[in-house]
Amino acid sequence: MTIDYDQLYVGGSFTAPAGRGTIAVHSPLTGDRLGSVPEADETDIDRAVAAARTAFDDPQGWSRWTPARRGEVLERFAVALEQRGAEFSRRVSIQNGMPITLAQAFEGGFPPVLVRYFARMMQDLPQEETRPGMLGGASRVIKEPIGVVAAIVPWNVPQAISFLKLGPSLAAGCTVVLKPAPETVLDAMLLGEAAAEAGLPDGVLNIVPGGRELGAYLISHPKVDKVSFTGSTAAGRSIASTCGQLLRPVTLELGGKSAAIVLDDANLSQQLEAFFGVTLLNNGQICWLNSRVLAPRSRYAEIVDTISDLASSVKLGDPLDPSTQMGPLVSQRQRDRVEGYIAKGLSEGARITTGGGRPAGLDSGWFVEPTIFADVDNGSTIAQEEIFGPVLSVIPYSTEDEAVAIANQSDYGLGGSVWTTDPERGEAVARRVQSGTIGINAYTNDPTAPFGGIKASGLGREMGPEGLAAYQVYKTIYLDPPKA
Ligand code: NAD
Repeated sequence: MTIDYDQLYVGGSFTAPAGRGTIAVHSPLTGDRLGSVPEADETDIDRAVAAARTAFDDPQGWSRWTPARRGEVLERFAVALEQRGAEFSRRVSIQNGMPITLAQAFEGGFPPVLVRYFARMMQDLPQEETRPGMLGGASRVIKEPIGVVAAIVPWNVPQAISFLKLGPSLAAGCTVVLKPAPETVLDAMLLGEAAAEAGLPDGVLNIVPGGRELGAYLISHPKVDKVSFTGSTAAGRSIASTCGQLLRPVTLELGGKSAAIVLDDANLSQQLEAFFGVTLLNNGQICWLNSRVLAPRSRYAEIVDTISDLASSVKLGDPLDPSTQMGPLVSQRQRDRVEGYIAKGLSEGARITTGGGRPAGLDSGWFVEPTIFADVDNGSTIAQEEIFGPVLSVIPYSTEDEAVAIANQSDYGLGGSVWTTDPERGEAVARRVQSGTIGINAYTNDPTAPFGGIKASGLGREMGPEGLAAYQVYKTIYLDPPKA
């Protein structure tokens, strides 16, 4: 049975779209049609932004409510999300190939956690303070919601990424127009159903499926106050330049080419599950994955063998099968891109130790074998450009200093990890890596800590109190000075 919608969630209910187009979603495993949603057009965006604007500007509305009152609605929202957790996981998995066990954790499980976390934080953190001044008076410093947020998300982890934006922005009192990627619109519609059931006030959340032109229209809309984007660096640069012209605040979570630094005392074979988690999770389609592995020359052959064995043991298959570790890539376009990089790596002289082709016995589906390149030069294309697939480059180094230098020779700076049996040594190395985040013997995006990149990986942070602050502005009221 296909999942088909003929209405959009705008202004607090599902209503007929102005747009005549349809976005059809096909299974990356079988090619079968999974369902469809209306494609929003510019009139739909105008309507969605107007609804968000009206909701935000209402003097008795959402933005003016106490955090506790918003918290009650957000708790209902969290419950509605939780009740649909299994269906969120299933829909994401069938659309983008994410293994179901991962989808259950990221896509079904994480959103309600984020909603509750930020709703609670908004109630616990003081939202204003009175500061005695130096010039005789005092100032009231108030945090206010930033306004109408345009949130644009990619297909790779669509629900969790949406909630890195919705959790803090809604808790802060903002209203949102969310544009999902065309590849993953069926889960976005389920999100609309959860919002409607939870009774989010009209216009607080609006969902407008569409492609990049529609996204470009949304972020430049005159009635939008803030843009929050997750996606490719190329799109991020274009969005940043528009926001620069408009002097519009923007948060950008972009691409990565992070390094796993394996130190010479590491015991990788005891940490294979964690190592898989930082290198090949979600079919290699996560921005912070460590697609460069830096291995000491003293143990190079052994480490290449360990990683190659890990890659060749990965179970590929139907993403809905709980034993599947790697599903198909999201689309033919994405597989073409990944295969193009594999060809490029070979032409540049790197050596494939495992993978490199399409897996035997899986004739349908956009599968690519987990592929390990050894003897990779850090200056080569496969070591510098984001591939966004299950392809790792193992790069040799001689000294710790050289490992840090190689890790830092990248346009990106998003994630990373250090593998060692000496956590103190690991932290000392981690401190020298130019990156917004980095893990030691693992990599866990904990909601309490800021996540985001430097260099071409983006601007700003999500999660933690920093992720809430991205949706607030300070207002200062200089209080009536004491009379002499
Ligand atoms: P993409 O940039 O092509 O598209 C992402 C979203 O932006 C989609 O909704 C798309 O329709 C929209 N879009 C594209 N161009 C736009 C424009 N000019 N203006 C407005 N909207 C536009 O990226 P993708 O291929 O869907 O996703 C993969 C990329 O996302 C990878 O580079 C990956 O590293 C990155 N990503 C980053 C993070 C992070 O947190 N840093 C997380 C996940 C994915």
